[in-house]
Amino acid sequence: MIYTGGTIGMKENPSTHALEPLDFSHLLDNVPKLKMLDYKIDSLQFSEPLDSSAMTPCHWKEIAEAIEKHYEDYDGFVILHGTDTMAYTASALSFMLKNLRKPVIITGSQLPIGEVRTDGEENLITALQVAAECDSEGKPMVKEVAILFENSLLRGNRSTKHSADKFNAFQSNNYPRLAKIGLGITYNHDALLHEKCGCDAKLEVEYGFDSNVMVIDLFPGLHENLFRYMLNAPGIRGIVMKTFGAGNGPSADWFLKELKEAVDRGVVIVNVTQCGNGCVLPYRYETGRKLREAGVISGHDLTAEAAITKLMHLLAQSDDPAEVKRRMEENICGEMTDL
Ligand code: ASP
Repeated sequence: MIYTGGTIGMKENPSTHALEPLDFSHLLDNVPKLKMLDYKIDSLQFSEPLDSSAMTPCHWKEIAEAIEKHYEDYDGFVILHGTDTMAYTASALSFMLKNLRKPVIITGSQLPIGEVRTDGEENLITALQVAAECDSEGKPMVKEVAILFENSLLRGNRSTKHSADKFNAFQSNNYPRLAKIGLGITYNHDALLHEKCGCDAKLEVEYGFDSNVMVIDLFPGLHENLFRYMLNAPGIRGIVMKTFGAGNGPSADWFLKELKEAVDRGVVIVNVTQCGNGCVLPYRYETGRKLREAGVISGHDLTAEAAITKLMHLLAQSDDPAEVKRRMEENICGEMTDL
């Protein structure tokens, strides 16, 4: 278990009444049932447990380093994490951990583990069970980064936090869940990631992320000057643009001209939809086609979380915008549906 922080391990500060992260022993003291599991569980905690809103690529790196260092020692890994940026961490780890053949299950909770009605105990125990699960050949059942929350196991890079207060806080709108958590754990074998035939490659970790990126969420009334200012931000290399519906945006000349100029300067601009599900269909409407013509590439059915982390990851791998664009439109580890 790798404890990074989050509500699961928090307690109310008596003077401010705000929830603050505590260390791991507090969490373990509150889950005596862990002893009932017949597993050998070791744990490791971030030197300072975090509210996940404070997560950065350095923390993603810290988690990946721990997995790389101990990869051969364990059957699986459970990461305890705040829910706010859990989908970003899950996506980032999925791109970093190449040839992953073991479960990396991320979980947390909406209520702290010390509270009577906590969802943390159940989430933690189920996450451990998933991390220990083997198939009929004795191989790990799950060989990818997944989020376990309430009654679903979801592919990490397909997940989004959709509720700030429901126990069922995560959704995977464009991909079926990997398992249904009910009285038992029912795996959806067709949805799980399977290694390519005969591929026995070793785990490789690609640590780099380039933060010279931004997300621009379109809205009617977006000001020309502000848009130009954002597209000309010093150092900018990539933009995830959240567009309307099936990938549409304004057709004003200034808008398309700014986009084209940014693309010509080498900025990679990726189109994802603002909608909770569905995908970008670049040629369905004239408004979408014009974005494509300006050089904006399609993020197809990527979540915004997967799109931004994938872009940061690819920009760190290559200085060539054409290569980044090509790989951006490719399915790397189950984050997008093949066209
Ligand atoms: N703010 C908290 C965090 O993300 C929320 C949570 O864990 O549910 O760390």
